Amino acid sequence: MTKQTYFEAARVENYAVGAFNVNTYDEMMGVSDAAAKIGAPVVLMASMSSARFIGLNDFVMLAKSMSRRFSIPVYAHLDHCTHQELLLECARAGFDSVMFDGSHLPYEENLSATKKLAEQCHDMGVLLEGELGVIAGEEGAVRSSFSSFTDARMASHFARESGVDALAVSIGNAHGFYKGKAQLQFDLLDDIVANCDAPIVLHGGTGIPGEDILRAVKAGVVKVNVGTELRAAYLKSLREYAALHPQDGDVRDFTKFLREQLSETASRYLEWFNFKGRLDN
Ligand SMILES: [Zn+2]
Repeated sequence: MTKQTYFEAARVENYAVGAFNVNTYDEMMGVSDAAAKIGAPVVLMASMSSARFIGLNDFVMLAKSMSRRFSIPVYAHLDHCTHQELLLECARAGFDSVMFDGSHLPYEENLSATKKLAEQCHDMGVLLEGELGVIAGEEGAVRSSFSSFTDARMASHFARESGVDALAVSIGNAHGFYKGKAQLQFDLLDDIVANCDAPIVLHGGTGIPGEDILRAVKAGVVKVNVGTELRAAYLKSLREYAALHPQDGDVRDFTKFLREQLSETASRYLEWFNFKGRLDN
């Protein structure tokens, strides 16, 4: 592809694009609002089930609509897809990028499936994110009770052979809320970035201390995924509003409150993605 991808644009300028899992229109509004406040591009991510829930075409149209409304690039991304046919359907529906998660497969199987899908996606002008190493926790249909760190040399080989546009790695990050303190392996990250051609993606942003996220971004992470925290903020807003208005609730009043809370949640993350730092340079 001749056009610079959003992963590459972030790599060149040393920031990370915020990628948020969304299930509803209001989450899209809140997240896009937060990104628009700093003029940053943003990625709206559908899990396999939310892609089916919202509808593939609707998801793409809504992302485009957010982009127009907020005057920032808003990308539609399919997260952690293990279902190859669904992945291709999303690519055909106009998703900007899709992730094939073959991390649970033996190395050679992951590589050959990812490579084939990358070729098919590139023919449609769609970017493909792959994964190597197992990220602990649960995300959509992908669940793992253990983690296995990404091997830097395998990552280098995998990126080169598969032709992925970005690679998700396991460096101590986990899906969901962390049980203890998140311990990112920065030496491993440096080793991966130094050896791997593909831009690096960090999943499991929820609960990683801001300073550590910023350090990972400066070390070369170009996209940070956040899901759990946004879902938690949604439900918290729902409970808070209901408690404040047991009798006199108003749908639009609630929706406004909800979007503000979601925007604040997303903003707290976007602060650490070095986008503003880029503007200071
Ligand atoms: Zn993930």
